[in-house]
Amino acid sequence: MQMLKKGSKLYSILTGTCPKCQKESMYVDRNPYHLTKVLTMHEHCSHCGLKYQIEPSFFYGAMYVSYGVNVALGIAAFIVSYPLLHLSLKASFISIIASIVILYPLVLRWSRNIYINMFVAYDPPMDK
Ligand SMILES: [Zn+2]
Repeated sequence: MQMLKKGSKLYSILTGTCPKCQKESMYVDRNPYHLTKVLTMHEHCSHCGLKYQIEPSFFYGAMYVSYGVNVALGIAAFIVSYPLLHLSLKASFISIIASIVILYPLVLRWSRNIYINMFVAYDPPMDK
């Protein structure tokens, strides 16, 4: 996929890799559906040394991103279920809730990934 090439912010956001070098995952467990470890992150990148928690409570800001992502997700779920699939309003409402609940671990990580990518640019160290 052309959009998902290394070096793009989208690559780091969707894969959860280090925003600076994109060589490894920021998360201890790559699977976000292992719910006890969904937000467990490495402290530093072992390739470029980037500290993920840039300042204390850095990722609290990701809550605002998460709100935006969930609103976008809800609107997308509504558009798919009501005008496209012609479900009833009640069924559309249930599908919005269901997609937000089911995708919640992913949204948590995407929000953190989007947030850290707003502050850190792709700048991989030179490999020898
Ligand atoms: Zn790195």
